Amino acid sequence: MGIRRKTTEKTRQKLYAASQYLNSAVKQELGLLIPFTVYLQDPLVARKDPKFGFDKDLMVRREPGFSDGPTSARFAIVDYNGDTGHIAPMAIWDPKKEAFFDPDGKILDEKNTKSLQFHQVNVWAVLQRALTFFEQGQGLGRPIPFGFEGNRLIVVPHAGHGKNAFYDRKSKSLQFYYFDNDDGKRVYTCLSTDIINHEFGHAVLDGVRPYFIESSLDETGAFHEFMGDLTAILLILRNNKFRGKLVESTDGDLSKANQLSGIAEEFGKAASDNDYLRTADNDLKMSDRIDSGPHALSEVMTGAMYEILLKLSEHYMENPKTTAAKAYWYAIQRMQRVAIQPLDLLPPADVTFEDYALAVLRAEELANPTDPHGYIETMLKVFVKREILNEKHAATMREPRYVYARLRLDIFHGIDNISRSRAGAYRFLNDNRDALLIPADQDVFVADLYDSQKLTREARRMPRQIILEYLWRENIPLEGLEFGEFEGRSTTMLCGGTIVFDENGTVLSWTRKPGTQGGRNKAWKEEIIAGKKRRDALLENVAHRIKSGQVGAVLGSAKGLLGAYVPPVTVREQDGILRFERSPHMSLSGEDHDHYQGGRQWEVSS
Ligand SMILES: [Zn+2]
Repeated sequence: MGIRRKTTEKTRQKLYAASQYLNSAVKQELGLLIPFTVYLQDPLVARKDPKFGFDKDLMVRREPGFSDGPTSARFAIVDYNGDTGHIAPMAIWDPKKEAFFDPDGKILDEKNTKSLQFHQVNVWAVLQRALTFFEQGQGLGRPIPFGFEGNRLIVVPHAGHGKNAFYDRKSKSLQFYYFDNDDGKRVYTCLSTDIINHEFGHAVLDGVRPYFIESSLDETGAFHEFMGDLTAILLILRNNKFRGKLVESTDGDLSKANQLSGIAEEFGKAASDNDYLRTADNDLKMSDRIDSGPHALSEVMTGAMYEILLKLSEHYMENPKTTAAKAYWYAIQRMQRVAIQPLDLLPPADVTFEDYALAVLRAEELANPTDPHGYIETMLKVFVKREILNEKHAATMREPRYVYARLRLDIFHGIDNISRSRAGAYRFLNDNRDALLIPADQDVFVADLYDSQKLTREARRMPRQIILEYLWRENIPLEGLEFGEFEGRSTTMLCGGTIVFDENGTVLSWTRKPGTQGGRNKAWKEEIIAGKKRRDALLENVAHRIKSGQVGAVLGSAKGLLGAYVPPVTVREQDGILRFERSPHMSLSGEDHDHYQGGRQWEVSS
């Protein structure tokens, strides 16, 4: 505090640019991190066990532009209630006191939780922490874009009555509803840390891979749900109090599933039907979840990553000097890198669990090339056991002389030219179509181009990564009665890939989604076979969706999108071609996930 008081606003502005190089203790002392009070989990947990009521030191990165709302660079809280038409007054920012106040001038902390303004600050601070989690070097090491035009996600903490919360790309918003429990107590989803983090996980994934919503694959929808659950789990486990309780109640043996469920019951059940931690503690394989819909399918991947987390903490426990609490903390920290950094390696469209598992292994190879403790083998085994990867993947990776497949390019382009602009990256793609297996007559475009500065353990810098995502659309005619009213029209299949370069232009990772056209040599032949498989799956999925009545237009209501019926797949026409899109409307309630299979009508509001 002593230093902080002496730090003038001018000094802080100078330090702001340097803050990326400082650790959090120093940042706090310099006033670059500001503490806020939020519910540790939610109000029900707080009532049950006041010890776990509040997190009074949620640290938010200071921004020069904090203002009433709260409003910050990436979030704007808009407290509009669609049911009542009421707009609640905003929490007021006092830049001198560095705190938010209610309209009566009372500070918004644990003694002032009833006011709607506390709710506004609660949801905002939790989101700021989640954003930092993704953006810092142990995460993606770059600013996260959103999946819509604009840079501020609108957050509606009291959108109306209902047991629901969702991310919606169209309205650029996260919306949180409230409902009355059996005991008559009002439950606000905007006060549940898990729910906020889960919904934000959808927003982040939609930002870093916006074309995933065009996928017809259940697995891509399941991947979205997995990201939501993973975000919720990794963020709550970073809380020291929560982790301490977990370690204590399991006697330090975190694999004790039943005790784990006990604690998940206490912490997870309160406001949400989704009991993230307990859901994660499973033995599911892919074959257990055939045709079960995205949400049920997501549990296979959530289970796999949670198992990897437990295995890492068991490994850290082997050191006799390490306590269970410490081991768990090391594992949690490591999981941020293990689970989040691979997102940059994913293909730009139609992601599958196999894509993600391979990205996780490749990211680990990049961060930990010598792998003295055999973490890659540990992860590989988990993925194979759960049928996410197969023995063929495992055999390839275990070959003694295994080297990540190199990409041989025809025409050299300096990395500076590739990374300078999308036009520069396009020239690189176009000059190397044959090597990159991009068909000559397809109009390939740069879907995204960015670079990242990721960190490994002890904040060691990895080489800068330059990531290039490219796509083209292959026309696919819809021929046959199974396409109903859409017969004779065409849709498109997204094809393309993601290349990750290091700062010298070496290709670190290349992953792709092939089309059905191309050249004649062996590489092309294999590519085209894979592309035809993708096309057949696409046609089958589109036909199934049409037949089961899941394809529809969004029907608005008086409440606009807030209370609208949203079909799981929407169709729109662009340049005479149909585009089927998974609704970018990721909802909390379980019912909508059933909707993917059954095609029943579903109302958001309860
Ligand atoms: Zn979800």
